[in-house]
Amino acid sequence: MITRQFGIPVTSPGAILRREKELGTPLGLETADTTKHGGLVSDKIIVELIEDWLRLHGGHGFVFDGFPRTIPQAKSLQSILVRHKTPLDLAIWLDVTEQTVAERILSRLQCQGCGFTTSLTSAHFAERPVCPYCDGPLVRRNDDDAEVLKTRLEEFNAKTQPLAAHYEKAGTLRRVDGNRDRDAVFSDISRLIEESA
Ligand code: AMP
Repeated sequence: MITRQFGIPVTSPGAILRREKELGTPLGLETADTTKHGGLVSDKIIVELIEDWLRLHGGHGFVFDGFPRTIPQAKSLQSILVRHKTPLDLAIWLDVTEQTVAERILSRLQCQGCGFTTSLTSAHFAERPVCPYCDGPLVRRNDDDAEVLKTRLEEFNAKTQPLAAHYEKAGTLRRVDGNRDRDAVFSDISRLIEESA
């Protein structure tokens, strides 16, 4: 949605890793077990992915979705941005309850082609699970499962939660209530992007 509205390229290590796995690359195969069970992939691998992506797409602004997820990743990002002579404008923190997360992942459908995300509760897509943007298949993710969610939440609480204080201290953190519908959340995110431009 951000790319469509603002023309800013967005990347997510999770999406890159899912693609690598589908393609059967060494990286995809090496990380498949960790992602399937909800663990975090090593900082070294994730930072290399981000650096490679930035070399190709990072010329005129960018958004990372799901990165950084640990303090060492945040520190690496800071060094990368210094090298690119680009400040970090904004760190958006989506506040969601565990109940919201559980409901969303248990009904999430994602396009294997472009990453478009919708839900099984959207009757239209439940009947014909095809992406409206690229005609790719809409599928369930193999880590969208109640047991795996427990591990993902443990990883989040132990390693990702400290980033809120980190970016609060840096003055770049903005909180958005993510428990609302897609349009309300996107409207707040859009406003933050416009204000920081
Ligand atoms: P996501 O698509 O953001 O939910 O990520 C799916 C999975 O990819 C995560 O559960 C992790 O296994 C891995 N992953 C994605 N982003 C990161 C990251 N920044 N650091 C470590 N692992 C990640």
